[in-house]
Amino acid sequence: MRVLQLSILMSIVVIGYLQPAFSSDAYEVIPPPVCTNNLGETVVFSSRTSDRGQVAAGMANRDQNGNPVIYRVNYENATPAFQRFIDFHECAHHQVGHVDQPHPPRNSYDHLMNESIADCVAILRVREESNETYEAVIADLVDAMTQIGFPKVSTDSRLSNMKNCYTNYDSSNQFIKQVLDASST
Ligand SMILES: [Zn+2]
Repeated sequence: MRVLQLSILMSIVVIGYLQPAFSSDAYEVIPPPVCTNNLGETVVFSSRTSDRGQVAAGMANRDQNGNPVIYRVNYENATPAFQRFIDFHECAHHQVGHVDQPHPPRNSYDHLMNESIADCVAILRVREESNETYEAVIADLVDAMTQIGFPKVSTDSRLSNMKNCYTNYDSSNQFIKQVLDASST
């Protein structure tokens, strides 16, 4: 009897462990930040829910009418701190004009550079506009990347880029201006 109880307990623990960290409780979905693209257009946020228990994600695009949009996917599975980071990251792709450029091949140098730029703008906006700590955002980002199955080396290089921006860079606006100036020459 005692053995049986223990094995039931252990299976509950294992099930609990196997479930994605964010899936057990839903978080409040925060209001989106202000987002304007490089052409001065207002970016609209739109919520999507896919399969339950999926990692929260965002996507920057134009909708079928050509309006700039950010799709917020499964945001109820992410903490408010991480929701805000995803919003800022996707907004950055609009702010520096990535959305209207041809999409570089996945994992190419240009693709990774675009992601580094978006991460940098996002973590600077966390520093400027939000109450969340750097550590809270990073902890959630590491959780999400681990769940999706990114190798540790990818996570580490992403974090070192963000730490450098957060510690050493001036304002997000100044950084965005540098990126726009560099891409127009
Ligand atoms: Zn991105």
